[in-house]
Order: sequence, then C-alpha cells, then structure tokens
Amino acid sequence: MLIRCWGARGSIAVSGQEYLAYGGDTTCIEIRTKDDDIIIIDAGSGIRRLGNALLKENRQEISLVFTHAHWDHILGFPFFKPIYFSKTSITMYGCPFAQNSIQDLVLKPMNPPYFPIKFDEVKAAIRTGKECTTRFFIKSMEVVPILLSHPNQGIGYKFIEDGKSFVFLTDNELTYRHPGGLLYEDYAAFARGADLLIHDAEYTPEEYRRTRMWGHSTYVDALRLAIDAGVKRFGLFHHNQDRSDGAVDGLVAACRDEIERRGSGVECFATARDQEIRL
Ligand SMILES: [Zn+2]
Ligand SMILES: [Zn+2]
Repeated sequence: MLIRCWGARGSIAVSGQEYLAYGGDTTCIEIRTKDDDIIIIDAGSGIRRLGNALLKENRQEISLVFTHAHWDHILGFPFFKPIYFSKTSITMYGCPFAQNSIQDLVLKPMNPPYFPIKFDEVKAAIRTGKECTTRFFIKSMEVVPILLSHPNQGIGYKFIEDGKSFVFLTDNELTYRHPGGLLYEDYAAFARGADLLIHDAEYTPEEYRRTRMWGHSTYVDALRLAIDAGVKRFGLFHHNQDRSDGAVDGLVAACRDEIERRGSGVECFATARDQEIRL
C-alpha cells in the first residue's frame, strides 16, 4: 500500500514561513491499495488539494473513512471538488456516534447559515457503509476499527494488505480515558508489530499540564506506545497549530534520543505534508 499525507496539522489550518516543512493543512491521508483503489482518511483542509489531484487523474470511485466529526477533520469536505460531479461515487465509512448517520455527521456544517452552497448542489453519488466498530474490507484492504479516547468519541483504524499493516490513531489521549475510550494497553495491543503507526502527538509534557482531558496525547506518550507496541516506523501527527518546523524537529530529535536510550529499533519521524510512505 502507498500512504500519502495531505495534511498533518491538528485543530486548525495554519500558514506561514514557520510551517513550510510539515505543512499547515489539517488531517487528510490518502491510501492507495495494491490495485490503486483510493481510500481517504478524513476531510480536513488537506482534502482540497487531494480533490484537485484526483480530478486531474480523472478518478471517480472513492472510499472516505472518517475518524470523527471535529471541525479539523471535516471542514475540507465542501472544498473537495469531486463531490460536485455526478460521475463521482463516494462510499463513506465511520461511526455516527450521536447522529443518525456518518453522512449527517459530515454534512451538517454545510447547512445554512454555516455555508453558502446547499447540500443539494453535491452531485456525487454518496453511499454510507454500515460498518462502525467491526472489521470490514474496502476492496483488497482489510480495515480494523478501534474506539479512541477523545471527547465526543472517535475511531482509529488499522489497514492491512498483503501482511503489511498501517495503524492510524489521531485525536487519541493515551493517559486519560474519555467515555467510550479504551486503555493505553488496548492501544498498544492494537498497534502491536505494525509496519507503520501514525499517532496523535499534539503536546509536550509541559503543555499537557494545562491541556489534560482535551483529547490529545503528548509526543512522549505516543512514542512510548510505539516502542511498547514494537512498531517498525512511528510518525508524529496532529502537530499543534503553534508548533513551528524547528520545534517539530526538536520533538523528533527528543524521540530519537529516547529510542536510543531504550535500545529500541523504532524509526521515528514527524508526518509531513506530501510525504509518501510505501509498505
Ligand atoms: Zn483533530
Ligand atoms: Zn478531535
């Protein structure tokens, strides 16, 4: 599988000289299966550029998997141009939580008075998968969901194809159990031996003293999970909106020091806009 990052920023899109390396767009990850089928995780602001790329490529069949409905994970959806073409066919997956369907969860922000274009203008055929917390398949890709520990809940995923696994856990607070969430040990078991783990690493331990229970992890706890789970590669994700490129580099350096200190073989990096990883 090929994994491409279109947005790794947390909470709100940012721009400026200090964000050029890791990018300012919020969560959007593209996965291409071995047969080149398209799976997208979340519709943060990064999905805008992805939509333009897919139109250029003339691709019409898209699977869209959602983690949860916080703004930074859905607000790119109205700017995802393929939805305005009737030839586009989208299958949405995710848990509706307190709403009637995943479609409601994602499309409500397009209702007046929040957005000028009515949902009727969306021409794409949209169907929703019934799967929520049970394992399912998207073409050749096996998808295993897990409940996250996050305010208003969320879903993380493991993608498995040809014996390779990619675990994506963003907006997950490892050291506080939100309603519906699981324990640190459960996430470690879920990520065990993954070829790639991308995990929420929003805060430093200092910042976390005042952001506890906001639904995010420190990079230290995320790294601990990666090492305990024995993953091969670990990507920091959901970069704080105030974290400059230099500061992100500092977190990666601290992670690498800790990996060496613990004698672990984990390869650590900070997930960056336009980064491609092949498993
Ligand atoms: Zn988020
Ligand atoms: Zn969130």
